Amino acid sequence: MEDAPTEPSGARDNATILLDVVKAFEVCSNAATHPGLKPAERVDRLMHAHGSLMAAFGPGHRITFNDLLERLSGELAGDLEGLIPTWLDATDLDGVRLLDPDGVLTAGGFDFRHEAELVRRKASKLSRSPEGVTVQDLDAEYSQESVFRSIKGEFYQRHRTTLINHPVVPAGGLPDLLLPMQANRFYQPIEQYAQHHGWFFPCTACRWPMKVTVTGSGRRARGMARCLYPWHADTGAVYVFTPTTGSEPPTLHPAFECRRPSPRYARLWTGTRPDLPEPQRASDHVALHRAVWRYTTVAGLPELRLHQALEEELTATDCTAALWPFDDAFDHALIGPSREVLFSADFKDYTWTNHLIAKIHRDAGDQGGAKWLIVPDHRSEQVDHLNAAARRYELQAITATDYLTMVAHEVKENRRDG
Ligand SMILES: [Zn+2]
Repeated sequence: MEDAPTEPSGARDNATILLDVVKAFEVCSNAATHPGLKPAERVDRLMHAHGSLMAAFGPGHRITFNDLLERLSGELAGDLEGLIPTWLDATDLDGVRLLDPDGVLTAGGFDFRHEAELVRRKASKLSRSPEGVTVQDLDAEYSQESVFRSIKGEFYQRHRTTLINHPVVPAGGLPDLLLPMQANRFYQPIEQYAQHHGWFFPCTACRWPMKVTVTGSGRRARGMARCLYPWHADTGAVYVFTPTTGSEPPTLHPAFECRRPSPRYARLWTGTRPDLPEPQRASDHVALHRAVWRYTTVAGLPELRLHQALEEELTATDCTAALWPFDDAFDHALIGPSREVLFSADFKDYTWTNHLIAKIHRDAGDQGGAKWLIVPDHRSEQVDHLNAAARRYELQAITATDYLTMVAHEVKENRRDG
């Protein structure tokens, strides 16, 4: 039993402690899944993670190294139940597993870390965390800010589109993408967790290598490939296969029937399509770092789709659709005949609504001054929550399809009036 729970004096805020917990698990995941580490380096990282957890909770709460080890893989992987002190409000993470049974950060854990970090980093203007070791620092260079900084300039729009449309490229094919040199480092060898005997399987929605899991052994062995972005997996990017020895790729079968969009949502659909992924050789390809894939590629797919649809709506009108205009001040603008901005919108694909709300309060609306906050259609349940926070800043949340409908309607009305 614990002693009576005591909150550490000079307590940092709850959100910061939760973020530290998630980051400690990220270090553990890295220790478990990073292929190049020596055993001593793995232990070193795990001890560092253990130390971070102890520091986060303060002296009144003890976790043994074994407590932590048993939550790194298997049935208890990433389970916080009973690990964190009772005074800590972890409602946000209730029922959330931070790691999957293979020790890989789950989509929920990964997004919690990056989205909370985005709010905190800008809030405190910290460029570097004071504890500065291992994963945290390595990862900062793959943050969304860092990615956008490295493609800034005349060809910004083209480079960002390239990163969205090409999350995987043949090894040696990087020069063909014509990205700035400093952006080539976002492409790395295919992760071990996305390989089956040297083969990988691109998601049919985003083309990034799907996470592979093999369970059972011998004749009972069963393989599964699943996109790490839940919307893609939920709409059909989950496939099963019989494990092979490697010389031939396994044959994938859909785990369930692919979901089809209703007519209303078909135009901006970013879910999975009913094609079978074609196995590819991992050694012949490089893929975007997970953070770049998640916050540039995945977040960018509905942005691009919306932009294309806006352009189609505006043909033969005197309005134009601008993507990432004014030095990327926001994501979309509708420009009128006298170059005036008729609509300005930012696109946000956050998993954790609370982090996005915290960001809205911190920026007192949208950082770039956009009036509309667009969420992907599959996040429609966020709209009311966001509006409750955003209205006071004259910022309004809306789904991508509703935004497209509204803009198309306004432009038609204007034409009639004019
Ligand atoms: Zn995907």
